[in-house]
Amino acid sequence: MRRQIVAGNWKMNNDLTETESLITDLKKQSRSSEAEVMVAPTFTNLWHAYEALRLSDIEVIAQNMHFAESGAYTGEVSASMLLSVGIQTVILGHSERRAYFKETDEMLAKKVDAALKNNMTVIFCFGEELNDRKSGNHENIVESQIKNALFHLDEQVWSSIVLAYEPVWAIGTGETASPEQAQDMHAFIRKTLNDKYGSKVAESTSILYGGSVKPGNAAEIFSKPDVDGGLIGGAALKAEDFFAIVNAI
Ligand code: PEP
Repeated sequence: MRRQIVAGNWKMNNDLTETESLITDLKKQSRSSEAEVMVAPTFTNLWHAYEALRLSDIEVIAQNMHFAESGAYTGEVSASMLLSVGIQTVILGHSERRAYFKETDEMLAKKVDAALKNNMTVIFCFGEELNDRKSGNHENIVESQIKNALFHLDEQVWSSIVLAYEPVWAIGTGETASPEQAQDMHAFIRKTLNDKYGSKVAESTSILYGGSVKPGNAAEIFSKPDVDGGLIGGAALKAEDFFAIVNAI
């Protein structure tokens, strides 16, 4: 059975007080879906969020990490540091990391290896830009992002990988991929996994959709057979909206 997941990426939002307040609101929400729920606060608030949500069914996850274990990497955070504050899951390859911090497929492959070596779960993000979509090159781009960062992995570690297809043109823009566009791409991703690893990996890997998912469009996107949940940005900053999305699964 594939995991159904709704993960909120809070990005560089919410100081400690705002984080406390959002967590208080999250705890008040009622839940009518069985999906796994995750939230990704900034590094400075991870420990607090972990403690505050420890007894809840919301997992606290990280937005990024470095591939080295420790050393002279000013401003960076390692897998073992995340583990030391209770974090077991990390988002890697978000398009904002790729665009603004020049993270390459090669760096991401190293980050994935470091996370897996530390027995963490990876939510691996990828997706095409608008010009790739317009020129019809979107499948090639997505295929190469997956191959370059993940296809060196052995079959057995895929149980620790969750994929998140996030078309860059739909992130934070209010423009969502249509449910059909999402389904077509997710089916293509599953086929790509099937070609490389066979049906067991392809059928058991969860593929989340991300890009302007809102309470009003979540149910239709999540109803597609190859969409196993969502990675949510803006709408994850309001507890009611986030749980409306969680409950849309
Ligand atoms: C994201 O940043 O991963 C994302 C999907 O953002 P938004 O929901 O705001 O488009």
